[in-house]
Amino acid sequence: MTGIVVLGSTNMDLVAYVPHAPKRGETVTGREFRTIPGGKGANQAVAAARAGGDVAMIGAVGSDEFGELLRHTLEASGVDTDLLRTAEGPSGTAHIVVDDEGGNSIVVIPGANGAVTALGPGDEALIATSDALLLQLELPLSAVLDGAEAARRHGVRTILTPAPAQPLPPELLAVTDLLVPNEHEAATLAGVADPHMAAEALLRQVPEVVITLGSAGSLYAARGSAPVTVPAPRVRAVDTTGAGDTFVGALAVALVEGRPVQQALSWASAAAALCVQRPGASTSMPYRSEIDDAS
Ligand code: ADP
Repeated sequence: MTGIVVLGSTNMDLVAYVPHAPKRGETVTGREFRTIPGGKGANQAVAAARAGGDVAMIGAVGSDEFGELLRHTLEASGVDTDLLRTAEGPSGTAHIVVDDEGGNSIVVIPGANGAVTALGPGDEALIATSDALLLQLELPLSAVLDGAEAARRHGVRTILTPAPAQPLPPELLAVTDLLVPNEHEAATLAGVADPHMAAEALLRQVPEVVITLGSAGSLYAARGSAPVTVPAPRVRAVDTTGAGDTFVGALAVALVEGRPVQQALSWASAAAALCVQRPGASTSMPYRSEIDDAS
């Protein structure tokens, strides 16, 4: 039993910290540069593994040095990378400029992620033995759909984070068990800003929804029962990068362990609250014992 499989992206984040973002034709001198392993798929895999899940990652890294680093980062947190392919060419990269006001602009180049257009050899067999498949939208949609349909064929629960925000094809929603958008993604999908109304609209397409609401916590809704709001612990947030991925990774672990939904949501909220109190994304994701202590 593998527990949790993540089908998703790996990216190296190349982050430049500058007083202000350069305009066209302008050169600015920045203060600092960091390379930070990321990608929503890899981040969710690390979060779930640190939360105590038995996790395997499907996707691709490039044949460059970033690829080796990305693979190593996953393995260091205990993620099985046997089916993580190395695609000829560059790894996915995100070129991020963060200004002194905390605003950012980002260029994403999919690189190896763009080569994952469908499941590869062995992927469906791995998914078939798992309890949950975690999906996001940073791989080509054809691969996301392929993975979700394979999971459905084998009765494996699918948990989809619809990020980056975009309209979704009905055939993908038809094989999604649990949809976990943030407020902005929920509004994009449902066409309405109010989270309660968005949840109600989304329940016409999927059986269960969790909308994450930042420091306001999360809203859980399922067909045929009243929605539940789960508050977030009150903490001093220093960097909310990766909060959503930490939340989803921990939530998946708790659900796979068979915990009641509300308890699973509180535990995931405790995990995400730990993440926001530290700088970084995957580096700031908590381990199981820390989550237990905080919840
Ligand atoms: P994303 O990171 O995908 O934009 P959110 O901002 O909704 O998603 O955050 C995801 C989860 O992280 C929230 O549901 C909450 O549990 C937790 N979280 C985010 N910001 C804070 C905060 N300032 N304090 C406590 N928890 C937070």
